Amino acid sequence: MLAKSSTEIVRQQNSTLVLSALRRHGPLSHTDLSDRTGLSSATVSAITAELERHQVIERQEQAAPAGRGRPRVSFSQRRDCGYMAAIRISSDQLEFSLVDYGGTLIDRFDEARQTAQSDGATFAQQLRQSIERLAARSGLSLSRIMVVSISSKGLVAQAEPRLLWSPVFGELEVDFNSIRGGALQAAVILSNETRLVAAALARVVERHAEAAGGLAPGALCALSLGHGIGLGIARRDSLGEYQVSAPDFGHMLHLVDGGLCRCGSKGCIEATAGFYGILRTAFDVPGDTIPARFIPLIEMEKLAANARRGDRKAQFAFRQAGLALGQGLGRMQSLNEKMPVYITGPGVRFYDLMEKGLIEGMGQSRAIRRDGLPEIDIILDETALVFAGHLDLALAHMDRNAAATGQLADG
Ligand SMILES: [Zn+2]
Repeated sequence: MLAKSSTEIVRQQNSTLVLSALRRHGPLSHTDLSDRTGLSSATVSAITAELERHQVIERQEQAAPAGRGRPRVSFSQRRDCGYMAAIRISSDQLEFSLVDYGGTLIDRFDEARQTAQSDGATFAQQLRQSIERLAARSGLSLSRIMVVSISSKGLVAQAEPRLLWSPVFGELEVDFNSIRGGALQAAVILSNETRLVAAALARVVERHAEAAGGLAPGALCALSLGHGIGLGIARRDSLGEYQVSAPDFGHMLHLVDGGLCRCGSKGCIEATAGFYGILRTAFDVPGDTIPARFIPLIEMEKLAANARRGDRKAQFAFRQAGLALGQGLGRMQSLNEKMPVYITGPGVRFYDLMEKGLIEGMGQSRAIRRDGLPEIDIILDETALVFAGHLDLALAHMDRNAAATGQLADG
């Protein structure tokens, strides 16, 4: 029979519950597992026995206090039962991290991105070689890597690891499925970078709400400021789990016949609020000038210093950026519900110069005037959130896989 029987589906769901409880709360005893998952004691016993047999989890025994009574037994993931590789693609470099099934970082290195990338296949080959290097440095066979989680700015295909448009490669499509082959049979996941930030924030917010005994918000969004503008939205589904998406916010229309954007359109939010857009406004550069591919942060720091010293033109450029962002957020709140906004990315260091415009821009939407301004928070460490998002997604994938097959590693 090809279809899975209903008992098999229930078994998988229960195994996933147990593994995600361990993921969220760390090592748990049999009783805690039963409490956290709502599963009966007998079911928890059956599942932990099976996962132990397949070497997905392991038990630790701790002597009872004062050496009396039975030792306390707790379960946790078996760290070496599988590995994930996280790859962050940014405008000038690639970052590779190796993480074990327990979520511990094993190794990390950076590589300069080779600029003259002629086609997507060549780039995918470069990635493949670096993954081989990542595994070799830790003495691992490639077959031990279960998930390769890749992030980039730009537009990502649904349910497929294909990059459709990105500031790094433009229209050049990259199909990351081609990094698989031979010993590397890992699942390949591609995420928009700000989507990962939103996923990680959702986890943090959820944990805080749980600790405080309250309810996490129904939705939240992360806005990343930099050369481009990214947006990730996390929204809770009917089961209470956050579902995360990354709409093409930076390339939503802001100004009719506005300045040229890196995507080829005119008047996108990014073309006013991205670094190159801010510089363009400040220096009266004609709007049809081809945007620079990359602007060093130091150029933006200089402009910000001028603005803080009272340079009207520089102040105006940052204010216009804030206005574009605020109007975009106002439209977003009109289409969705009111949700807290977390602002992050290298551009947050100029938030003081954009804040007034941003608040004003938001207030131009009726939805905001009616429901009030959302809560706005500044998050300085975007890099940590991107990495946390990689872990969250890839380890959950490994958990589901282990629950489905009863095992992670081959054999
Ligand atoms: Zn655009």
